[in-house]
Amino acid sequence: MRAFTYEKAASPQAAAARAAEVEGATFIAGGTNLLDLMKLEIETPVHLIDVNGTGLDTITETAEGGLRIGAMVRNTALAADARVRRDWPVLTRALVAGASGQLRNKATTAGNLLQRTRCPYFYDTAQPCNKRSPGAGCAALTEGAFSRQLGVIGTSDACIATHPSDMAVGLRVLDAVIETVTPAGLTRTIPLADFHTLPGATPERETVLMPGEMITAVILPAPVGGRQAYHKVRDRASYAFALVSVALIRQPDGTGRVALGGVAPRPWSSAEADAELPNGARAVIATLLSGARPTEENAFKITLAERTLAAMLQEA
Ligand code: SF4
Repeated sequence: MRAFTYEKAASPQAAAARAAEVEGATFIAGGTNLLDLMKLEIETPVHLIDVNGTGLDTITETAEGGLRIGAMVRNTALAADARVRRDWPVLTRALVAGASGQLRNKATTAGNLLQRTRCPYFYDTAQPCNKRSPGAGCAALTEGAFSRQLGVIGTSDACIATHPSDMAVGLRVLDAVIETVTPAGLTRTIPLADFHTLPGATPERETVLMPGEMITAVILPAPVGGRQAYHKVRDRASYAFALVSVALIRQPDGTGRVALGGVAPRPWSSAEADAELPNGARAVIATLLSGARPTEENAFKITLAERTLAAMLQEA
């Protein structure tokens, strides 16, 4: 691990201002992904700004009937919150499907959204990776590469990595909004749907955050009711990332919403696909994954997504 300096920020505004001021600075909260990346020297911040003491660890009700989840609320606390379990149960289910109990105790709401891909070549510094070293090439797209875990849609010729978060898929189906503070101290809100960028020719860029900008909260809109479910299909029963995951909200009249994880560089959903819900899983997935560009190794994800959703609809 490279040497770095460290400070504790007293407020979100101070943290954002310092991050913009010190070149090579980065925020640290739970550190569950960042510390691994620093040990491998994939991330080499020269200065860490500890944001754990910035007072962003509460969940409060909004005037609109939703919830404001502080950026430092731990995944365990969010999953266990009685209001979330009662009114936004898809979020609790997505959270408990992720990582392990120990990691969820430490991982924060903001950190979960900002975690990096688990593409195996991103973590193998002997392999070329455009996300790690822009312009180096993509090992996952070479002949015979291992791409079973990787993306089928929203990918590019430069990168086919997926976003690994389960929580983000639950938040996407709930239409959550991210609140940030800029280095100038201004508040900005960004729909989660627009937060993660697609790789295009610049896979090293993963969100629309500007330098120094810090997530302060995630806002949930008022409850939408319906039957809510999250199903994650993975290679082993626990502590593994999704091959495919499905978040579903189904209303009594057959309408509803769907978001997929494990298939794209961000939680994947669309209003057009949601409109197909009364017509069944095949119609939803055909619309949602139209234009998919799977590899030979991961083409099965399209069928898997359809069958997973079909099973969930039957249960709902
Ligand atoms: Fe790197 Fe993306 Fe290629 Fe994986 S898929 S090796 S993260 S460029």
